[in-house]
Amino acid sequence: MTDRRVAVIGLGNMGAAMAATLARAGFAVTGYDPAPDAGDRARAAGIALAASPAAAFAAADIAVLSLPMAAHVEAVLAGEGGLLAAADLTGRLVIDTTTSEPAVTRRLAAALAAAGHALVDAPVSGGPAGAAAGTLTMMVGGAAADIDRARPVLEALSAKISLCGAVGAGHVVKLVNNLLCAAHLLTVSEAVRMGVAAGVDAETLVGALNAGSGRAGVSEVNFPRWILSGSFDSGFTMGLMRKDVRLAEALAAETGQAMPLLEVAGRLWRESAADLADGEDFNRIAALD
Ligand code: NAD
Repeated sequence: MTDRRVAVIGLGNMGAAMAATLARAGFAVTGYDPAPDAGDRARAAGIALAASPAAAFAAADIAVLSLPMAAHVEAVLAGEGGLLAAADLTGRLVIDTTTSEPAVTRRLAAALAAAGHALVDAPVSGGPAGAAAGTLTMMVGGAAADIDRARPVLEALSAKISLCGAVGAGHVVKLVNNLLCAAHLLTVSEAVRMGVAAGVDAETLVGALNAGSGRAGVSEVNFPRWILSGSFDSGFTMGLMRKDVRLAEALAAETGQAMPLLEVAGRLWRESAADLADGEDFNRIAALD
């Protein structure tokens, strides 16, 4: 057994691209995803497809998870047919790139440790394009020895690794990041609409803004690439961002933190479900028309 054998569990927009990047970097990659078109995605990523999560864990020393949410992570680690149910497997390292829930992550990490496995949370920023290019930003939580073991995989997938603290800390940082991104989509859109109504061309306005102190990641990347261009094809959905906002709000409630401005942003994201379906691109909430 060597740490060059990696399973990627969840072959969606992010997971399939990460699997292809790891295969290109020389890892022997096995994928698993129950979706009917998973075989096509595995072929496109140049990887072998396992028939079950247990088979994927058996085929690799390290497993990268890229799943919709914490419940799916719990299912593949602690559910029927998951890692903890495979009593013959030991010493697996799980790298969870899902945008998940810190409390669930800590609980699963403890259960895995008791069974001789380890977990590092490494949620990502950078979208499917960053996953395909191996230039993601990763926010990592875990024990130093586990992060050292994960490092070759993390480095193949990312251009920047931020060490955030103990296990679960990566997921805390990711929720803070996405809550801000969700809020910035609303504030930048509102402000740009004001400038346009006052007579300035939208592209000129955003270009000038990006040289000024009012700029944000959203004005520098999302506006030119997906909103002003009208392409709305970022590969990240309204449904997933609404999930992230909900998780951030739960974290605020858990910590007793008052967030008067972000509370309004959270309400607007919740209410957007009436007009924007879960499958729509998340930048639609900032559309100018
Ligand atoms: P996605 O919906 O495209 O993919 C998720 C995949 O998981 C699907 O293919 C689904 O079939 C699969 N899946 C569901 N249950 C499973 C199980 N039990 N075992 C194996 N596979 C299972 O989602 P995505 O956009 O790839 O996002 C994945 C995660 O990454 C989410 O937590 C998301 O919030 C996060 N994320 C996404 C982006 C992005 O730009 N898309 C960026 C950063 C973080």
